[in-house]
Amino acid sequence: MCKFSGKSITALAFEASLEHGTELERWSCLKKFKLKQKTELFWWRLQNNCIPSNPFLVKRKICISSHCPRGCGVDEDENHLIGGCFKIKNVISIINNWGFMVPSFDNFQRCMDFLLNANGRSKLGANLFCTTVYLVWKSRCKLIHGDKEESDNTLAANAISMVVSSNFLNIQTGSWDANQLGLFSTWHPPPPGWIKINVDAALKSNNMAGIGGVARDDKGRFLMAFGEKCWHWDISQLELLAVIHLKNLVKDWMFEAQGVIIEGDNCNIIKLIQNAVKAWKVSKMIDENLAFLLDFNQIVFSCSPRVSNKLADICANLAIDSSFLWENILDFSIPSSFLYCLKEECDALDNS
Ligand SMILES: [Zn+2]
Repeated sequence: MCKFSGKSITALAFEASLEHGTELERWSCLKKFKLKQKTELFWWRLQNNCIPSNPFLVKRKICISSHCPRGCGVDEDENHLIGGCFKIKNVISIINNWGFMVPSFDNFQRCMDFLLNANGRSKLGANLFCTTVYLVWKSRCKLIHGDKEESDNTLAANAISMVVSSNFLNIQTGSWDANQLGLFSTWHPPPPGWIKINVDAALKSNNMAGIGGVARDDKGRFLMAFGEKCWHWDISQLELLAVIHLKNLVKDWMFEAQGVIIEGDNCNIIKLIQNAVKAWKVSKMIDENLAFLLDFNQIVFSCSPRVSNKLADICANLAIDSSFLWENILDFSIPSSFLYCLKEECDALDNS
């Protein structure tokens, strides 16, 4: 009889193989997020309890306190490293205010369950989450070595550029899932250095139609707005035209931006454009109407609920009467309905 807790050798071997199975499962689950090498290594170490956090060092008698070095007053265990710490909570909340959807956890097991099951739409959130946890850990190591920690904003912006650059053109933010639509009740600004262009279309029963859009920076400041009068009968086609029309309006400052987010409220159209750009990655072929999208440094397609696409909706409706292009907020032809909504969405950012 085996001396370990009365279990047979076979039972133990079976358990060991099961454990090995979970380990493999966890490891391959990380692979699917296409993390940067260092982030992946960090997570592998985290899963295998070999991150030199304070409790790890206390066990080996290298350190006397197992508490979080940021003064949280609790053990710096895996639950704290992946989300318990205020620093991670702050950074994730900033990223989510830019319109991304990054989950947060207080419990390592729940976090691993999420990562194991994340697929399709939630992969971006998972990648951003894993990258953020890694960057916050790196910043914590700076603190330990007597340097100043990186600010929450810097960490959030770095996480975005790391993830977007490794997933070039293959990112979508916002909420495809209908049950998540309610999460975004206002317009969300892009990350610093980025531009967000909201587009929309409007159609009247007599086939008089308009497409329109508005470009803003991370502070919600106005950069440009357009509206184009047209005739059409299909609202989806119009929404697609609104994106295609951007190619007539692209300016140097758009190419100089770190990235551009194109946001509309018709998820099917946003998805269609995203797929076209995705397909380009494989086949190097793309509809020539959409080819201009490849010239941006980074591009993200986002689907938002109608309520956070209000300003673009105003542009599309104004365009039914006549086409316009505003490149200066002082342009006297900008109606007060537009200015009022712009101001309202800008004020909402200050209060958030
Ligand atoms: Zn902490």
